[in-house]
Amino acid sequence: MISCIPDKIYGINHSVMQIPSRQEIIRKLRNNNKKISLVFPIYYPSALLRAFDIHPVEILNAPDVDLSLADAHIQSYTCSLGRILLSFIKEERFQNQYDLIFIPHICDTFQQIGSLLVDFIRPSQPVINFYLPKRSDETGISFCIDELKRIAGILENVCGSKLDIKRLTLELGKDIEINNLLKEVFEKREFLPVSDTDFYRIITSKTYLPPDDFIKILKELLASKTDSKRKTGKRIFISGISAEPPEIFEIINSHNASVVFDDLAVSGRRIIDFSGFSDEPFRRQSEMMLYTMPDAEKGSPIEKRAYWIREKIKRTGATGGIFYIMKFCEPEFFDYPQLKKYLLSEGTKTFLIEYEMTGKVSKQNINRIQSFIEGL
Ligand code: SF4
Repeated sequence: MISCIPDKIYGINHSVMQIPSRQEIIRKLRNNNKKISLVFPIYYPSALLRAFDIHPVEILNAPDVDLSLADAHIQSYTCSLGRILLSFIKEERFQNQYDLIFIPHICDTFQQIGSLLVDFIRPSQPVINFYLPKRSDETGISFCIDELKRIAGILENVCGSKLDIKRLTLELGKDIEINNLLKEVFEKREFLPVSDTDFYRIITSKTYLPPDDFIKILKELLASKTDSKRKTGKRIFISGISAEPPEIFEIINSHNASVVFDDLAVSGRRIIDFSGFSDEPFRRQSEMMLYTMPDAEKGSPIEKRAYWIREKIKRTGATGGIFYIMKFCEPEFFDYPQLKKYLLSEGTKTFLIEYEMTGKVSKQNINRIQSFIEGL
């Protein structure tokens, strides 16, 4: 049995599988004089950054940051992820942990923070704003290619070295290997001897682990596959950006229910179900960001999201779903009413839990999860 131990600093964890914490990875890279980019989730050209020897580290939660640092710059009705990330950048004690700030504009909040940083706050590290297209057709791909070339030019200036196309191709190959392993891990989820909490912790360690380390962990996880399905009780799914803090899964499990699939932007939605990748590296990097599962943050049509969730429900036998949505997250709230109506018409009950990103799940939300599961 694999189990994880919480890393109190960043809200992400390490385990007896020897998953190092985010903090340990940062320390190790720093000791080896490696460059680190703080990246805002979720879609960014990871391989392109690594081709410049810059290791991307995403922050999903940081329960110990001082949120008043962000409150001085943005409205109180900004989502807690945006407030956490801005506060993290402003906190002096974290400032020597990264060399670059990379912001994909997936929503108005990140766009606002990106502008604030460049125009007013002006941190000592360079800030790169990345304009992610909200469509995945040929127009979106070609916009993305141009955008990546622009970013490559900025990175050449920042690093003082030319892009090595061979290195970019190599790094893209690692991301494809990760995607193939992740697909297998998601398919075999019910045969893996890990709790829902640990499964989430393993999957989200992708947000900071070097690719070779993450590949090793995924292979180790797949090697632990058993012949019998784990006991699930009531079968549910979870949808949203992330499931922070991961203790949310323990609450679900303690009420005789299990998560049989997720529609989380940091987890299941990141899978790429596509095999005809282009040989041209900039196009391939674009395909890898735009051909992931339907996602509100990428402006995916609601029909595609509904169809994807319905197919997953059919395949896994889920009887209900929790939409775990961060307060003030417009893209997620915008889709929910239609998804709820559609899924109910297909016989699946869903329930909305609104939350603020903190180190704890509120008592009120624990009670609400309990009543929803009991009613299934
Ligand atoms: S997508 Fe939602 S949670 Fe993420 S930054 Fe935007 S508003 Fe916040």
